[in-house]
Amino acid sequence: MEREAPTSAGAAPGAPSREETLAWLAADDPASEEALFRRAYEVKVAHIGRTVNLRGIVEFSNICSKNCYYCGIRRDNRATNRYQMTVGEILECARWAHEAGYGSVVLQAGERSDARFIAFVEEAVSGIKGIAGGAVGVTLSLGEQSEETYRRWFAAGAHRYLLRIEASNPALYARLHPGDHSWEERVECLRRLRRVGYQVGTGVMIGIPGQTLDDLAGDVLFYRELDVDMVGMGPYVVHHEAPLRERETALDGPARLRLALRMIAATRLALPDINIAAATALQSLHPEGREMGIRAGANIIMPNVTPTKYRAQYQLYDGKPCLDENAAMCRGCLARRIEGIGETIALNSWGDSRRFARRAKEEGSRPGGA
Ligand code: SAH
Ligand code: SF4
Repeated sequence: MEREAPTSAGAAPGAPSREETLAWLAADDPASEEALFRRAYEVKVAHIGRTVNLRGIVEFSNICSKNCYYCGIRRDNRATNRYQMTVGEILECARWAHEAGYGSVVLQAGERSDARFIAFVEEAVSGIKGIAGGAVGVTLSLGEQSEETYRRWFAAGAHRYLLRIEASNPALYARLHPGDHSWEERVECLRRLRRVGYQVGTGVMIGIPGQTLDDLAGDVLFYRELDVDMVGMGPYVVHHEAPLRERETALDGPARLRLALRMIAATRLALPDINIAAATALQSLHPEGREMGIRAGANIIMPNVTPTKYRAQYQLYDGKPCLDENAAMCRGCLARRIEGIGETIALNSWGDSRRFARRAKEEGSRPGGA
């Protein structure tokens, strides 16, 4: 049976209940899925238009102090060569992204919080803001940090931050991470980022061992509860050196891909005006995975602009796509794919979260609001 999803495209659907969200996620017959994707896409078009924004992602280091059980660049994986790009190399990538009209870059890396790293990132962000009079937007995805560090990087010019909660259910989070990781601290980091002034993004992996549909419905509710500006989600993909490989995911590749698409659609219906990224991991399960993500309600794609020589070492999961292509090749291929689904790339724009702008306006018009 086809699930009831909001029908009037422009109207905010209110807060879908846990049951309603769960029903969307559970309805895996093709007709229900198609109806869900179509409605989520209509909501995306009504709130954002037929446009996709790009962020050139620079994976500038695979050195990580953490040991997440699922991740290929975790600290204890001795089978990977560690690298860190120079600030000069990062700026070159950012310049390339700017010239290609991408409008924004994401700096992503393993997590470190030592003074050298903090200063390095600050220098890289300031350097990027020096390109073309500050034309390039900067998103960071560098894990958990102190409020002071988040403030320094914000002052240097970063204005968006992605920190996936990974699992909004603390018990599942605890099964995916060693004992020195704290779910409470991760949530506190998300609050910290909001306090500092960033547009805040979070997300989860989909189809990770031990995860239930009810967990995923809870994730969508969590996004709403935190009133996030952005969500980036993709399927879990096994990495052969990560300990989680020993635990089977309940779903095969195609089923994980479709569940990830239903999650994108459910998130769009629950949060109509946020930015939702179609994660690269979608593409590792299907060559057109990211375009499918757009058709299910996402509006952001993050093409890889990391120099080709580093890409193979930044393998969070097996089968990462485009390892042997350079950024220019990715660009041509992406433009064709996006136009192929009737969408236009919004060139030279930051593509900020509409939700963030709306909240700022609401807060500004409240008595005593800044
Ligand atoms: N170190 C930072 C940013 C890099 S990791 C951080 O952890 O926040 C970025 C994301 O990659 C993580 O949030 C996680 O959700 C995802 N990831 C890691 N291993 C993965 C895997 N095996 N499959 C799919 N996504 C994975
Ligand atoms: Fe490090 Fe991020 Fe991988 Fe965890 S997910 S091991 S923090 S790179």
